[in-house]
Amino acid sequence: MLELSRVSASYGSVPAILDVSIAVGEGEAVGLLGANGAGKSSTLRAISGLLKLSSGAVRFAGTDLAAMPAYRIPELGIAHVPEGRQVFPEMTVEENLEIGAYVPKAKAARAQTMELVYGIFPRLAERRRQLAGTMSGGEQQMLAVGRGLMLKPRLLMLDEPSLGLAPVMTDVTFEKIGEIHGMGTAILLVEQNVSRALSLVTRAYVLESGRIIMHGTSAELAGNRQVQAAYLGI
Ligand code: ATP
Repeated sequence: MLELSRVSASYGSVPAILDVSIAVGEGEAVGLLGANGAGKSSTLRAISGLLKLSSGAVRFAGTDLAAMPAYRIPELGIAHVPEGRQVFPEMTVEENLEIGAYVPKAKAARAQTMELVYGIFPRLAERRRQLAGTMSGGEQQMLAVGRGLMLKPRLLMLDEPSLGLAPVMTDVTFEKIGEIHGMGTAILLVEQNVSRALSLVTRAYVLESGRIIMHGTSAELAGNRQVQAAYLGI
C-alpha cells in the first residue's frame, strides 16, 4: 500500500534521509526504529509531504505522493500524528477532534467517527468539553491519536507516541494502538521504546544516520545482537 523507493531528503544542506526504501502493506503494523537524529521523523515528513524529496519516490495505493501538494495527502487516507502531540491547547477535546475530520469524506462521517474515537478512548468522552491544554500528557497523546483517527485513515503514522509518558500511560497508549491496528488500520510507528514497539509491530526497519541499516520481523530484530546491544540494553 505504502512504498518508499530510495528516498533522500535534506534540510537545506543537512541530509536527513538517504536512499530509504520501506513498505507498509494494507492493515500491517510496521516500526521505524533508531536513535535520536537517525531520520525517523524526517521519513514520516517525507511521506506526508512536509519534507520535499531530493530523489526517490513515495507511492500510496498506486498514487505518486511527491507529485501532490501536502494538503491533499490526508485525503488519500494518511494520518500523521506528529511528535509532541501538538493539540490545540485553547480548544476543547471535541473541537480538536472535529478539526481532525477536515477532509470532505471524513467530514461527512464526523459524528459517527467521533463516537468510534470516544469508544476507543472513553477518557476523551468524559473530557469532551475540557480545554486540551489543561489535560495530562497522556490524555493529550490520546487526543492527538484520536484526532488522527478522525480522518478515517487507511494508514496511521505515529511519531514517538510514548515520549514523555509515565509507564502506566505508555501501557495504555500501546494497548490502544494495538486496538486500532486490530480494527484494520495500517500503522507506521516511530518509537524509541524499542522493546514496546517490537511487541506491537510485525516488522521493523532500523535507521542510522539517515539510512536503513537493518530490517526484519520483530522476532528477528529482538534476537539480533546489534539491536539488543544498541536499543534493548541486553
Ligand atoms: P528524533 O527522535 O530526535 O526526532 P529522528 O530519528 O526522528 O530523531 P529526524 O528528526 O528525522 O531524526 O532528524 C534527522 C536529521 O535531520 C538530524 O540530523 C536532524 O538534526 C536534522 N533535522 C531535523 N529537523 C531539522 C530541521 N527542521 N532543520 C534542520 N535539520 C533538521
